[in-house]
Amino acid sequence: GERAPTNLNQLAEEHLRLAYQGLRAKDKTFNAALETHFAPDLPLVEAAGADLGRVLLNLFGNAFYAVQQRQQTGEAGYQPTVTVTTKQLHNQVEIRVADNGTGIPADIKAKIFQPFFTTKPTGEGTGLGLSLSHDIIAQGHGGTLSVESEPGQGTEFLISLPN
Ligand code: ADP
Ligand code: MG
Repeated sequence: GERAPTNLNQLAEEHLRLAYQGLRAKDKTFNAALETHFAPDLPLVEAAGADLGRVLLNLFGNAFYAVQQRQQTGEAGYQPTVTVTTKQLHNQVEIRVADNGTGIPADIKAKIFQPFFTTKPTGEGTGLGLSLSHDIIAQGHGGTLSVESEPGQGTEFLISLPN
């Protein structure tokens, strides 16, 4: 897509609300805490906003799904939380999307960036989100998309863009 100077805090905020409201429209009982830690001085980044928006929507959708799955186990005191953090480093900008959902077992984690890989029931996932996202970040922006996960505890995706 077309690249233009983009406010990543604003893009993340808008898509976080969109993803959450979309899910809540389908399931009124779903509740999650949304935490944002946006760097106040984040510079504009040369980015394809529509493409990055799709990446964020998928990451947020995945995060909400994971906390919803964990919530459904009925674990006492569980508070579903999705946390979005932005940060400017030396010559790159980071966006982190963290959830305290189900986490990803190591054998599954090895496959999540493969096209059509999904653990979701038919109709709930195509398995294309992370593979497309990886391409948008790597080929489209010269950045990286990586993941760390603790099964049973949660997951964090990290988008790193050169800047
Ligand atoms: P889809 O969401 O359609 O399944 P994705 O490419 O977005 O496809 O994700 C692939 C798989 O990666 C998911 O089915 C799930 O198993 C795993 N996954 C992705 N994000 C998370 C997350 N935040 N927590 C747990 N599992 C995840
Ligand atoms: Mg997905």
